[in-house]
Amino acid sequence: MTDLGLPETIVSCLFDLDGVVTKTAVVHAAAWKEMFDAFLRERDGEDFRPFDSGADYDEYVDGRPRADGVRTFLASRGIELPEGGPDDPPDAATVHGLGNRKNELLLEKIRTQGVEAYEGTLRYVEAVREQGLSTAIVSSSANTRDVLRSIDAEHLFDTRIDGVVAAERKLPGKPHPDTFLAAARDLGVEPSKAAVFEDALAGMDAGRAGRFGYVVGVDRVGQADALYRHGADVVVKDLAELGGKS
Ligand SMILES: [Mg+2]
Repeated sequence: MTDLGLPETIVSCLFDLDGVVTKTAVVHAAAWKEMFDAFLRERDGEDFRPFDSGADYDEYVDGRPRADGVRTFLASRGIELPEGGPDDPPDAATVHGLGNRKNELLLEKIRTQGVEAYEGTLRYVEAVREQGLSTAIVSSSANTRDVLRSIDAEHLFDTRIDGVVAAERKLPGKPHPDTFLAAARDLGVEPSKAAVFEDALAGMDAGRAGRFGYVVGVDRVGQADALYRHGADVVVKDLAELGGKS
């Protein structure tokens, strides 16, 4: 192991955004809950079963592209909606309409609350780069660029595979490994020489499916066991635990 807490073979680090670099996973969870609860209340009346921003979020939504999150959670409740299209208005009762409603709520929360970075992650990414490893940001979020700019961290990543790039390149999102594989390819490294840093169960699945050299589970919500079950090689509460102090 290096003093970055990684196997000697690792030359690139692929970081998820929400929940790993920024404290936005909780903001996403809140926006999903507000959107789904309004939808379920309208559909089932006041005795509706609310969206659980712990269990439902971790299992069906976290880490997945927006439309996949809508579809996967609704399927867990036996609900199927028409797909609609990406330009559907936020009040449309379609998969994309609900996704757009969630995104509106998210952007509103980000606008009013701002975005906070995990300092331990920023210091770790800086240490990784100082030691000559390359870096990528790999997120399902279509807002990745704005979020990185708002915390002045865009320069810390050599390449970016986000929701926008994935749509352009037609890459399926997490839990499929394709976005992480695309990042490794952009950096010119074999997956076996790249480490994945993720807080989502879908991200662990992607790391395992892509046969990456090392998968770091970042546990912000007390789900270490689930992260290990989904393929983490190690689980930490903060990247500062891995090392990187030079
Ligand atoms: Mg995440």
